[in-house]
Amino acid sequence: MNTELDKVYDPESFRKEGHILIDILADHLDRMQNLNETENTVLNFVKPADELTFWNNFNGTSPEDIFNTILERSIHLHHPHFMGHQVSAPAPLSALASLQGALLNNGMAVYEMGAAATALESYVINLFKGYFGYDSNADGILTSGGTIANLTALLCARSNTTQNDIWQEGTNEQYAFMVSEEAHYCIDRAVRIMGWGNNGIIKIPVDNNFRMKTDLLQSYLDDAKKKGIKVLGVVGSAPTTSTGIYDDLKAIGHFCEEHKLWFHIDAAHGGPAAFSSKYKYLMDGSELADSITVDAHKMMMTPALTTMLFFKNASASYRTFAQKADYLWNADDTEWYNYGKRTMECTKLMMSTRIYVLAQAYGVKIFKDYLDTCYDLAKEFARLIQDYPSFELAVEPDSNIVCFRWKEGPEESLNGENEKIRQHLLEDGKFYIVKTSLKGRIFLRTSLMNAKTTIDDLKKLLDEIMSIVKLFSI
Ligand SMILES: *Cc1c(COP(=O)(O)O)cnc(C)c1O
Repeated sequence: MNTELDKVYDPESFRKEGHILIDILADHLDRMQNLNETENTVLNFVKPADELTFWNNFNGTSPEDIFNTILERSIHLHHPHFMGHQVSAPAPLSALASLQGALLNNGMAVYEMGAAATALESYVINLFKGYFGYDSNADGILTSGGTIANLTALLCARSNTTQNDIWQEGTNEQYAFMVSEEAHYCIDRAVRIMGWGNNGIIKIPVDNNFRMKTDLLQSYLDDAKKKGIKVLGVVGSAPTTSTGIYDDLKAIGHFCEEHKLWFHIDAAHGGPAAFSSKYKYLMDGSELADSITVDAHKMMMTPALTTMLFFKNASASYRTFAQKADYLWNADDTEWYNYGKRTMECTKLMMSTRIYVLAQAYGVKIFKDYLDTCYDLAKEFARLIQDYPSFELAVEPDSNIVCFRWKEGPEESLNGENEKIRQHLLEDGKFYIVKTSLKGRIFLRTSLMNAKTTIDDLKKLLDEIMSIVKLFSI
């Protein structure tokens, strides 16, 4: 008997180490919710080469030492001053479902390789599809991230809207999608992966509020036709990543209906607004969409990656990785339980359980409460910024993404000032925010992802920036 391997799989060691890890993480959560001023950092910024050197020299071997060291050297999303990128501070219960999924490791590509998680995938999709105005014809899949979900949706659109059997025969036609110039870069990538090049993405300008100018769709479509480009559809952003502003989904939907175009909504961030009576107006028009991407690891408190991709017509989704000429999809139309046929992945994570456990334990209402909390806080933050004469808001927020900038001094120096502020905050570690460039102007950008962040934390952020700028001028 190989005793080393016996040790690897020893249940009692797992129990012991598991308790150690859970204790470390529970203590961490407790610390994040009861911070004292001296150990108040979201991250301890270390240059990449130094971090690599640290790990090259690290020789801890006990799980406790390893887990603790990784924790200390990671950014803390549960810290109320984490306001940077759009990744959730996961609900601990959902993280436990991830751990269970990691140990059971059901591969999911065919039904028997994940019976419970497969049935729950269908359950979870059905639980939410109605909020988008979808009926019993709708269906969906879970997949690893908004990037892959968007690519999958565009492939599905291609299979369902073109006459040619591109899947089997390839094509020399120039196809394209229309999308706002503020859309997430993964749409651009998806189009290029499909081989459509520069002409495959037609970027529609945005208005002063960073919303797609939907009144321009017609002229851009006419222009494309003149150039021999076949536009297959339009992608609406709900919301865009940089400013968090929702496109007018109704207007895009009606335009697509009129021209028989595929309408995809990239609601990776803000799809869950549909669950909230207060904010569901932002998703008005979702019922017109052929497909919708929603990341649960952004605004539904699950660990990454957990993404839902909804289709208005279930049958369309079976054509994603095949074409009409392919006899296979037809026969398998009802095989909803073999998800591998409709997803990019073969082996896939047990994602459904991370959403399901929250819905069962706390009720679906918990997702609405979370969204309302974050979106309400952004509105409050926008009002607070207006009380500070040294700051300006980029745009009144639709969502929990708020962009603002320091505005004291000549315009030509402001990009540099705001870059310096953000760099100082990063290296200092008391707050984590990011930056974005909007129409050539650098803005500080916050995503209020943490339900424990309060307006008081945001006031502290603005005060911190005020004192940083004072430091610069000494
Ligand atoms: C985050 C985001 C994506 C990318 O999703 P991942 O899950 O990070 O792959 C795409 N589109 C929008 C609008 C997003 O906010």
